[in-house]
Amino acid sequence: MEKTNVPEIFGSMVFDDRVMRARLSSDVYNSLRKTIDENVKLNEAVAEAVAAEMRDWAIEKGATHFTHWFQPLTGVTAEKHDSFISPSPDGGVIMEFSGKELIKGEPDASSFPSGGLRATFEARGYTAWDPTSYAFIKDHTLCIPTAFCSYSGDALDKKTPLLRSMQALNRQAKRILKLFGTEVKYVRTSVGPEQEYFLVDKEMFEKRPDLVYTGRTLFGAMPPKGQELDDHYFGVIKPRVSEFMEDLNNELWKLGILAKTEHNEVAPAQHELAPIFSTTNVATDNNQLTMEIMQKVARRHGMVCLLHEKPFAGVNGSGKHNNWSMATDTGVNLLSPGETPYENAQFLTFLCAVIQAVDDYQDLLRLSVATAGNDHRLGANEAPPAIISIFLGDELSAILDAIKNDTPYVGREKVTMKLGVHALPRFSRDTTDRNRTSPFAFTGNKFEFRSLGSSNSIACCNIMLNAAVAESLKQFADRLEKAEDFETELHELIKETIKAHERILFNGNGYSDEWVKEATEVRGLLNLKTTADAMPRLLDQKNVDMLTEHKVFTETELNSRCEIMLENYCKTVNIEGLTMVDMVRKNYLPAIEHYLHRLAETTSLMKSVSPNVKCNYEIATMERLSELTDYILLRVRDLEEALENLKKYDDVLETSKAIRDDVLPKMEHLRKHVDEAEMLSSEECWPFPSYGKLLFSVY
Ligand code: ADP
Ligand code: MG
Repeated sequence: MEKTNVPEIFGSMVFDDRVMRARLSSDVYNSLRKTIDENVKLNEAVAEAVAAEMRDWAIEKGATHFTHWFQPLTGVTAEKHDSFISPSPDGGVIMEFSGKELIKGEPDASSFPSGGLRATFEARGYTAWDPTSYAFIKDHTLCIPTAFCSYSGDALDKKTPLLRSMQALNRQAKRILKLFGTEVKYVRTSVGPEQEYFLVDKEMFEKRPDLVYTGRTLFGAMPPKGQELDDHYFGVIKPRVSEFMEDLNNELWKLGILAKTEHNEVAPAQHELAPIFSTTNVATDNNQLTMEIMQKVARRHGMVCLLHEKPFAGVNGSGKHNNWSMATDTGVNLLSPGETPYENAQFLTFLCAVIQAVDDYQDLLRLSVATAGNDHRLGANEAPPAIISIFLGDELSAILDAIKNDTPYVGREKVTMKLGVHALPRFSRDTTDRNRTSPFAFTGNKFEFRSLGSSNSIACCNIMLNAAVAESLKQFADRLEKAEDFETELHELIKETIKAHERILFNGNGYSDEWVKEATEVRGLLNLKTTADAMPRLLDQKNVDMLTEHKVFTETELNSRCEIMLENYCKTVNIEGLTMVDMVRKNYLPAIEHYLHRLAETTSLMKSVSPNVKCNYEIATMERLSELTDYILLRVRDLEEALENLKKYDDVLETSKAIRDDVLPKMEHLRKHVDEAEMLSSEECWPFPSYGKLLFSVY
């Protein structure tokens, strides 16, 4: 491959600050900048000027079309392309793009899920430009990041509530900072999402209907070698994969995505890509793009990129780590312990706000990552449990203990912690350890939320996290603004917060059975194991109150979202069930029958040659396989019946419970027997590529 000049290509397909500064007049640039930084409304003349420059720039880069690029509730991105052309009087065309077209679009949105939000008579939602996320060019198309709403103003996408949640946090964080004597323009949350994925050979992939239809294998016996040797983690990257990564990095860099780290993961064929963090809405757009481009580039290299949370049973699934922090426009990370006692008091205030938020809204965080796919991971001894808790590390925990109990903290020197008086000891990043079993871990200057599934949009969890933290900050600000003596009140507030929410703090092994017992029975933490358990909590009164008060969602939007997410869960599992039935009836049973035929023929042939042969192997195999086909038939009928039964519910909540309690267990049962039959059958009779082939065929 040609050598790439990274600084030269980086962002070359993005209408970013460099381009704006160079191409826009200073008046236009300054007012756009004000819109981006301070959310000031953009006027029409400015929009016209920006649109004209954007068009010229895009055409120079070879674009012929433009699209409003948005994130409907399906979880993937959507786009509808229009070309720039407009007829000119001489019979030719001119390339046009107006300010109006930049600001607002009207895709026919009737086929996007809206959970009843959009009556059919007003099927046209509209998209509105989000100037805080830069426009970019992809496939000769100028893509304009937008929010997607209905005419009544309800959000039909994931970006609108995300932007609202960032506003909510901004408002409340500024109040707190003001109390500490700092006035800033804004506080923003930033995110660095680490993305895991699998790469499998395209030919193998296409032979597996389960992968094609559902993104995961629904059958498959374990290969003799899995991940037990740990020889894949950080191992040497195979040539084909390394070419893929190089190509992927180039594509991402052109789009201004800060792809930084790449390595092999724990499971064979599993890899990770991490970008450098950016502002949450930009990070969200970039992560959606990254997932899309990963899939596209993999195809170019004869592979398929699997983003499913659990493509293979018995092998680690894929997650996404949401590294999150809050920072001011002046570049101060509010989750970074400072140098002075005063800075440390401020750090502890924000830290406690997060602790309270995670405890009060465990349910919202859990449900923000709930999907049928991710249910296979959470709690399966490879990913954090479905129970939400916070890991702070020994040092920070000891400091909080000392504050809570008014006891001396024995760090480098023995001091009684009094906020605003004593400096916190500087704890090194290393001591904040690498507890991989915690769902929500403090890692020195940020929190890492690790429960996300690899295909989740990071918008969902960040909406909840931002909103919940905004709520704690609001409560803190309400109290502190009234205080006569700020420092004393703050000290009390922090002490009380630690006492009230220490149940959420846990530094131990999140995978252990003892933790599940302690968390649920002693501490009263939630253990919402499946999507069907978690999702309905969205509509609990306390959650509706908080999310509507901070104007992150309207009540109508919440109802629709709950419905859409549950519907999505049901549809996903239903397709999986139908795929299983199809594969069993059309392929597995006939394949086993075929092999049985061969065994029976061989046996009678051998016996006819010599009455002395015993044919023990043939007969034992035949007997067991024949028994298994009987079980498989019973199990597949059970599953068909369970799927048929779903039709009788007209309520999505009831359907989701039937999926959880009836369909999924029956799928599990069916699979067990088919996988056993695979182990007994000849490979050449088996209709689909094995786990071994799928996991180890890419070099
Ligand atoms: P690891 O978890 O493997 O130790 P890193 O320290 O490299 O990883 O960080 C993982 C991710 O966290 C990266 O995407 C990084 O950019 C991001 N990150 C680092 N600092 C912050 C921050 N202040 N806010 C949000 N994300 C951050
Ligand atoms: Mg990490």
